[in-house]
This record gives sequence, C-alpha cells and structure tokens, in this order.
Amino acid sequence: MRIAFDLDNTLIRNDFDFPLARAKYPLLQRMLSTQLLRSGVQELFAYCRQQGWEVWIYTTSYRSSFYIRKMLWTYGLRADGIINQARHNKQVQVRSTKHPPTFGINALIDDSKGVELEGQRFGFPVVQIEPTNTAWVMTVQTQLQQLASAR
Ligand SMILES: [Mg+2]
Repeated sequence: MRIAFDLDNTLIRNDFDFPLARAKYPLLQRMLSTQLLRSGVQELFAYCRQQGWEVWIYTTSYRSSFYIRKMLWTYGLRADGIINQARHNKQVQVRSTKHPPTFGINALIDDSKGVELEGQRFGFPVVQIEPTNTAWVMTVQTQLQQLASAR
C-alpha cells in the first residue's frame, strides 16, 4: 500500500499543542530550523515500512518538497513521495482539496473532516485523526490494518 500523511494538525503542530517527538539529530534540526513533528511519527513510519508500505506526504501547504525532506531527515525519516499544493494544482483534475487516487495513494491520514467527506464523495479512504487523539498511533495502525486486510 501507499500511505500518505497530512502535515498541519496531523504531523505538525498548528491549532493544537499535541506532544512533539524529539528530533533524531537535534543540532541539525536547529541549524536547518525545520519544524518539529508529532510524537509517534517515527513509530508510525517504522510500522508502515515493516508492512512494506510506501510513506508519502500530502499537504495543501506550499512548503517545498526540499523543506519537507529536510524536516523529515532531522528525524531520520524519509518520504517516498511528496505532494504539496503546487504539485496538486498541476496534476489533480478533480475539484477536491486532496485527491489521493491521482497519485496512487491507498490511504490518507488527515485531521480534516472536510477531506474525510471528500473521501466519501470521491471514494478514497481517509483515516481521520483528531489532533487531540493521544492514542493516534494505535488508531492509525488499527485502521490501516483494516484497510489492508479488506483489499
Ligand atoms: Mg491538516
């Protein structure tokens, strides 16, 4: 499977102060002044890798893919693909905030209920995660496992 993670309010703090993970390379992180990521991100990426799944980032922000790669790098993480708003605008033909099927993405992890509704409308799976969900790692794993076994 190809899994994509949203950034704002899912992996990056925005409106809600969820706990942050410690960067793997804190000095590098300070040098690059990249944003910190949500606690549990390493576990989830590792989990997806163990299953043999690809891990992508899908954000409606205009952060460059270079910035996103640097940010992940400070955590020792890597993305197989990155979609920002610019790439979305270029490639997506559907009138939807996000459209994972355009990129062959099988599941999107996102805090947005609007995106979840678009998923129902256009027929793509969204694992909607509240920023307040402290057990989000387990919620994501359980739901991805269900999606994987339903395939
Ligand atoms: Mg979001």
